[in-house]
Amino acid sequence: MKQRIEAVRQRIIQAARRCGRRPETIRLVAVTKTVDATRVEQAVHAGVRTVGENYFQQARENHRVMEGVAVSWHFIGHLQANKAKYAVGLFDLIHSVDSLKLAQELDRQAAKLGKVQSVLIQVNVAGEVSKFGVSPDGLDPLVTAIALLPNVSVQGLMTMPPFFDQPERVRPFFAQLRQIAQQLENRHIPGISMKELSMGMTGDFEVAVEEGATLVRIGTAIFGRRS
Ligand SMILES: *Cc1c(COP(=O)(O)O)cnc(C)c1O
Repeated sequence: MKQRIEAVRQRIIQAARRCGRRPETIRLVAVTKTVDATRVEQAVHAGVRTVGENYFQQARENHRVMEGVAVSWHFIGHLQANKAKYAVGLFDLIHSVDSLKLAQELDRQAAKLGKVQSVLIQVNVAGEVSKFGVSPDGLDPLVTAIALLPNVSVQGLMTMPPFFDQPERVRPFFAQLRQIAQQLENRHIPGISMKELSMGMTGDFEVAVEEGATLVRIGTAIFGRRS
């Protein structure tokens, strides 16, 4: 486990160096779906500091096992508005906000806890019908509306690009997310930050780093193939 994590880190560092970025500006998010809590704990002991989760039940178990351990918990899966109350209690950053309805519910639930919930907006850059996320056209109005919610704080964007065997073919979609973030940043919407770009998985994270990722979400390269 430790070696796998170290190998991923080295690849992030190399990719960062190739394009003149500081490696410390890229965070590794260890994606734990279908991995049991014992192995997640091993990863944390091996130096993982950010954990990305798709399911609440599993998240609760992981949080219980690692109570008091300094881990940043991220939610990366699809989130329904009626689950917002659970998400707000469990996660430091939610990567997958893609509707005003969801953001409003997060705002309401975060207010109850006296918390400001950090979120990313998930963008469906390729407009795939099978994928969640707001369309690039819908992004500006969505972010402008979310900016008015006092208990939700937008930190950047996330995407799940189309799948290709060759990572180079994903590059244009990562580049597009970065450009969209840049355009939004230039609008200087009060309270909106575009400092985080969550993009890149096991098959393509080096390309994502070259295109500006600050959060790479890695499951398989750390925990092995999911069954
Ligand atoms: C499963 C998952 C990942 C990690 O995928 P790997 O290819 O195993 O690295 C990243 N992001 C999301 C949203 C996922 O669901």
